[in-house]
Amino acid sequence: MAEQQDGNNLIACRICGQIMVKISRDVCPKCFKKEEELFIKIKSFLKANPGVSVPQVAQNCGCSEEDVWGFIKSGRLDRIGLSKIAHHCELCNSIIYEGVMCDDCQKKLKNQLSSLKNAPYNRR
Ligand SMILES: [Zn+2]
Ligand SMILES: [Zn+2]
Repeated sequence: MAEQQDGNNLIACRICGQIMVKISRDVCPKCFKKEEELFIKIKSFLKANPGVSVPQVAQNCGCSEEDVWGFIKSGRLDRIGLSKIAHHCELCNSIIYEGVMCDDCQKKLKNQLSSLKNAPYNRR
């Protein structure tokens, strides 16, 4: 494996792993095009069916649930105002429509984080 490439502008495509010159994104043009096409599909499906669940989206758009999750997590669906997908909270599995976590878990996580910050061991 030639990981030490000379041009440090070379990266592996996030999706297919092909080595390419780093442009503004981390996927190769081929995968980028595929992702864009999928995104458009998902977008129009969501517009026509607000509030559907992630598995439904995946089924109807011919992609995996992870693909749909990818768009949710990256905030792309939020940005175009289509965040209303019924999906499970990552932590407690309750049904939510926005973000990746329910309000309760968000609060819990925040508390955990602040107690971590105050932990005596946390010195650099
Ligand atoms: Zn690729
Ligand atoms: Zn939760």
